[in-house]
Amino acid sequence: MAHFAFVSAPAAGHVNPTLPLVEELVRRGHRVSYATGPATADGAARAGATPVVLPSELPPDLDSRGEFTAEQLAVTLGYFLDDAEVSFPVLAAHFEADRPDAVCYDSVTFTGRVLANLLGVPEVALVPTFAENERFSATQVYLPPTFDHGHPDLVAAVERMGEFAAGFSFLDDPNLMFGHVAPLNVVFVPRSFQLSADTFDERFRFVGPSLGSWQEAEEWSPRTDAPVLLISLGTVFTTRPDFYRACVEAFGDGPWEVVMSIGGLDPALLGPLPGNVTAHARVPQVAVLRHASAFVSHAGMNSVMESLYHGVPFVAVPQIPEQRAVAARAAELGVGVTLEDQTPEGLRAAVSAASANRAAVAAMRDVVRSAGGARAAADAVEGLVR
Ligand code: UDP
Repeated sequence: MAHFAFVSAPAAGHVNPTLPLVEELVRRGHRVSYATGPATADGAARAGATPVVLPSELPPDLDSRGEFTAEQLAVTLGYFLDDAEVSFPVLAAHFEADRPDAVCYDSVTFTGRVLANLLGVPEVALVPTFAENERFSATQVYLPPTFDHGHPDLVAAVERMGEFAAGFSFLDDPNLMFGHVAPLNVVFVPRSFQLSADTFDERFRFVGPSLGSWQEAEEWSPRTDAPVLLISLGTVFTTRPDFYRACVEAFGDGPWEVVMSIGGLDPALLGPLPGNVTAHARVPQVAVLRHASAFVSHAGMNSVMESLYHGVPFVAVPQIPEQRAVAARAAELGVGVTLEDQTPEGLRAAVSAASANRAAVAAMRDVVRSAGGARAAADAVEGLVR
């Protein structure tokens, strides 16, 4: 049996989609050690991995950095590099003492690639969003045409990244974040949702989303017989009190049972809630989706995949360029509606429009569920260590 090292930044949107794969590998008798920050280590343990807890956190103000300019991207890269300089020595020391047979890393957690190279073992990139290759750059789709790729801060951050990689590894191409294509990429999106899908070769396995057994077991029940409307902006971009207030105004005292996930936002900022609305720091999203009739979502890729998996029509309220691209792709496929008008009337109209997509969403549910999921992902990853 093999030993797999998983490495991911401590972001729910990056760790969550990998956990059914962890569970499947463990079920097949392999050992998984999952290196991530304290925020996501428990999830890895629940999936059956041994957590390797790194001193790694997300940038504290990620929420306010939605629109990437070159300067902002350089600051964010600088943060990830500072983080890598502290956490990589811990990561390397752990796995030098307990060597894995392969390293499976979140596609933007570049320390995973450095680790695989340092140890001389096969690498697998785990891609929780649109995949990229030599011919297709999702970043080019997300970023505005005015984005300054030659901005000196950005050039300096990329150079610093190269120096970091050179200090620990023997990579031919030390450009760690942009343009590298791993020999094997497991993509948690079905091929039919991928942009420019026909440019992707057999290095890419579009396995789609899967549910972990703990998600299947998670319970949530509606309080009433009213149809359930879930509202969530995910785990990062939640400091939007005006948006939640517009939702309360749009759907309060209406025909829905409204369940809002508001993250760390103080619920008092929303004022007194009507009887049909509840607000929570976190909801068991998959369990709520099992009962939901509609979802107002920030269009994080995982939320969109989970919505489609459950055949729930959704309204996208994207907060950052990547989410705008996900929302646009869903609209193109006829399975999502992007909110244009953030007034209460606009919200109600968008939910009605989304509900009219039910047949297309049901067809996409079948596509999403038949993409192969964690089993196909585990087959691909096992193929590296036979
Ligand atoms: N999530 C959850 N409960 C919440 C909010 C989010 O379980 O109240 C989960 C959600 O099911 C998904 C992940 O957190 O798996 C969010 O990932 P996504 O890519 O949608 O958005 P991000 O948080 O990365 O912006």
